[in-house]
Amino acid sequence: MATVSEKSVMPMESFLGVWGYSKRAIALVWTTHRGLTVALGLLTVCAGLLPAAIAFVGQLFVDAVVAAIAAFQADGAADYAPVLRLVVIEGVLVAALAGAQRGIDFCQTLLRVLLSRRVHVMILDKALTLELAQFEDSEFYDKLNRARQEASSRPLSLVNRTFTLARNGIALASYAGLLAQFSPWAVVVLVCAGLPVFLAEAKFSGERFRIFQWHSPLRRMLLYLEIVLAREDHAKEVKLFNLGPGLMRRYRDIFSRMYRDERQLTVRRDSWGFALGLFGTLAFYGACAWVAVATIQGQISLGQMTMYLVVFRQGQTAVSAMLSAIGGMYEDNLYLSNLYDYLEQPGLERPGGAPGGVDADKGIAFADVSFTYPGAATPAVRNITLDIDPGQSVALVGHNGSGKTTLVKLLAGLYRPDQGSISYQGLDLEEWDPAALKRRIGVIFQDFTRYQLKVGENIGVGDIEALMDEPRWREAARKGQASGFIETLPEHYETQLGRWFNRGQELSSGQWQRIALARAFMREQADILVLDEPTSSMDAETEAEIFEHFRSLTKDRIAILISHRFSTVRHADQIVVLDEGRIIERGAHAELMALDGRYARLFELQARAYR
Ligand code: ADP
Repeated sequence: MATVSEKSVMPMESFLGVWGYSKRAIALVWTTHRGLTVALGLLTVCAGLLPAAIAFVGQLFVDAVVAAIAAFQADGAADYAPVLRLVVIEGVLVAALAGAQRGIDFCQTLLRVLLSRRVHVMILDKALTLELAQFEDSEFYDKLNRARQEASSRPLSLVNRTFTLARNGIALASYAGLLAQFSPWAVVVLVCAGLPVFLAEAKFSGERFRIFQWHSPLRRMLLYLEIVLAREDHAKEVKLFNLGPGLMRRYRDIFSRMYRDERQLTVRRDSWGFALGLFGTLAFYGACAWVAVATIQGQISLGQMTMYLVVFRQGQTAVSAMLSAIGGMYEDNLYLSNLYDYLEQPGLERPGGAPGGVDADKGIAFADVSFTYPGAATPAVRNITLDIDPGQSVALVGHNGSGKTTLVKLLAGLYRPDQGSISYQGLDLEEWDPAALKRRIGVIFQDFTRYQLKVGENIGVGDIEALMDEPRWREAARKGQASGFIETLPEHYETQLGRWFNRGQELSSGQWQRIALARAFMREQADILVLDEPTSSMDAETEAEIFEHFRSLTKDRIAILISHRFSTVRHADQIVVLDEGRIIERGAHAELMALDGRYARLFELQARAYR
């Protein structure tokens, strides 16, 4: 598939290539609602045929009036019946055309709603299958945002334009049939006069799309600035550091830059559109003179003259509607290529389907694992070989950035190692059924999510099957030592958290961490529990107490702790010291103290501070 940059260097080829999406858009609309699509098609055909019929009846009407005038002047009486009959027929046809147009509007409105929801669901469904690394890739993120912003309206727009094209095509063919009786050259003039405008349209559509692509990172920055400036969780710092004016300036600058590009393009597009549109006016008045001369010379009747002029004028409108539909379809196609680029992105397709491990006596085994984040220059972890037995507790220690969290993310399957393998119960993580594996591992990260939901739900998210299970919330809160403060909240477990919603309460960092701990205890089925510094906002004593409690409740499970407090860490069965992504020491507290290396030094340092 052509990428965006290829599209910009091969205009003609890509011009033809992108049409491929029209078919898919029509299939999308068809599968969204067949009845409405069929109705839209039928009404389109009616709306295409009726205008020529109206013009034809108009001609008969004028000629009938002329004949009646002649009869009246000759005999002093005339037969009014044919004239009146034609008036009635014309009226019925005009009413039918109005009905068809209403019907088209009706179908389009309903389809727009259905289709927009369907495309959003497709986009979000896809998002669920993606790797975390893809979300962190800014180019990919742009793709997702562009797909979301535009593509939900584009498929229907493409289909509408296809139908507009068909309707006007049918109308044009019927006009051409009438006009050809006057002169085939008139048909040629009719079609050719519209071409210059069309070519300009197509050129500017492509350009607009490219500007849209270039602006994508700018729009993302605008969105981000809006969030920083207008959301409660950022307001504190924005006020304290007086960031407002500076960020606003940045916001305005970006906006002006985008506006400048848009304005330039619009000015050029409209000037060219106007200049080239003059060809059409010229063609029409040329045709007027031609038809008038033919009427004066008696080659055609007065009724025919009226009809040809109407047909030529409406034919021009049809040609320009068709050409602008084609230009618009080209533009829609470019946008849709974006949507499909995103939807076709390969996602998290883990091949494995094993519901459980092969050897329950085996725990976690990292074998020579290395991993570099996409776009990073150095590996975050390298050559990690580590065995963790069932029921063992392990503490990961090391400076910030030494790779502790990355190791946990690899274990949880959020990233895949570039090298080496990770297995659990004797089976490579790749071979595990992803859902089964997730049920076995519970992780609470340092930057756990603070959901703007009720207290109970904030705990319940730890086990989605028990999201609303109040007895389980209470039990988990008790284990996570959160029940004490929850009882003091106005509506206990029903209290709304966060400021987004009515009567929302904000919690302190320490209270939030207790909620997160309770969330970890919701994972009753998990036999690996990981706590990544979830107690850093609590005092050392509380942390030690919570970990001791945690340990006693997870005796038969693997527990992995990350903490900077050695008073907590020292009780772990195995302590792993990381530095720049490597394991530099490992063993129980006593062994590491005897080794007198990094761990012993850091331990002494902290112990001295507390003495
Ligand atoms: P720790 O948990 O020990 O503080 P991390 O595992 O979070 O360390 O980070 C290890 C290294 O990986 C650091 O150098 C950090 O900058 C980098 N890193 C962490 N997360 C990402 C990410 N999402 N993208 C790129 N680099 C990252």
